[in-house]
Amino acid sequence: MLNSMSHSVDTAAVVAAITKTLGRPQAFIPLHEPQFVGNEWNYVKDCLDTGWVSSVGKYVDRFEADVAEFCGVKHAVAVVNGTAALHVSLLLCDVQPGDEVLAPALTFIATANAIQYCHAVPHLVDVEETTLGLSPSALDAYLAEIAEVKNGACWNRQTGRRIAAVIPMHTFGCPVDMDPMLAVADKYSLAVVEDAAESLGSYYKGQHTGGFGRVAAMSFNGNKIMTTGGGGMVLTNDIALAKRAKHMTTTAKVPHRWEFTHDMVGFNYRMPNINAALGCAQLERVSQSVVEKRALFAAYQAAFAEIDGVSLFTEPDGCQGNYWLNALLLDVPDLVVRDAILVATNDAGLMTRPAWNLMHHMGPYQDCPRTDLPVSENLLQRLINIPSSPQLLDGRHA
Ligand SMILES: *Cc1c(COP(=O)(O)O)cnc(C)c1O
Repeated sequence: MLNSMSHSVDTAAVVAAITKTLGRPQAFIPLHEPQFVGNEWNYVKDCLDTGWVSSVGKYVDRFEADVAEFCGVKHAVAVVNGTAALHVSLLLCDVQPGDEVLAPALTFIATANAIQYCHAVPHLVDVEETTLGLSPSALDAYLAEIAEVKNGACWNRQTGRRIAAVIPMHTFGCPVDMDPMLAVADKYSLAVVEDAAESLGSYYKGQHTGGFGRVAAMSFNGNKIMTTGGGGMVLTNDIALAKRAKHMTTTAKVPHRWEFTHDMVGFNYRMPNINAALGCAQLERVSQSVVEKRALFAAYQAAFAEIDGVSLFTEPDGCQGNYWLNALLLDVPDLVVRDAILVATNDAGLMTRPAWNLMHHMGPYQDCPRTDLPVSENLLQRLINIPSSPQLLDGRHA
């Protein structure tokens, strides 16, 4: 019988399902913890022993080459964090003050901030439930309504502004449906900047994320699948853009043996050697982390199959994601049920959290142009991230 309790979820069963999956956790279980079990000590010690800790050193070059190879892209430029990587990526795509840039409403605020740093305007669009990322079909229908292509550029007929680029963000490591996404971008002459901050180790139809757009940004923050302490990477297949990225992120200094000449207002966004050393070691194990995280996903999926009213987010066919963060989805949007689960799990020492607040729900972006956002609004009331560290299954966290 349907009644007002028909979409309640047994919160104790949710806590039990997580606890059962993780064995018998003793301490507080964070959402995502870094893991240092490889060459981290050796490489970082090498930096300290040799004095090469800062803006020059062999680990930056090596880390860039290793990440490019791992991701199947031609060039990678290491920077101080993922937000800086996004900022530079947008500038590389010639995003100008007053332009609009399309971005999902459901993302971490850095995506929108990077647009704002360019003095451009975030234009928020909806996601799809199958990937939690930008919906190519919704975007196509929306642009048909509001945009026109003139002289090889896309114009917003309602605001009169140019729409310069679109940022597909691979949410929690699940790839955006890139084939139709690229087709829409092509149809409307939009530069594609992938926000691949969460998707190292995630593949769409066999190709690593970050290699689809003109440029992509990655993050190696402490909570991501691998870390450099803090760090980011700009990825591109275009040698001219890669050279420009290096130049812009290293204060735009013109190479010379002793003279300090800078030919534009550059940024001090270069990744220090000591962080890159950590990154080289972390990258050596990232494939193993993906295997562990996919195993954790499978274990959670089995545990939650038994619980009514809730299921585990599962990637669509054709994707091989890193399951950076696992996500529970309530069958029915209900903030009361969602928050009851958040309370019960956090009380039990299991760190959980809802999806990020939607961009237009927050002060800085409340007045941004946007389409209807029914799927984003729906997901916000249904989604809960649960502990996802790769080492959780084998109990090494204790
Ligand atoms: C982490 C993250 C960033 C920013 O990376 P930082 O290294 O923290 O600056 C950008 N976008 C998304 C989607 C992220 O998850």
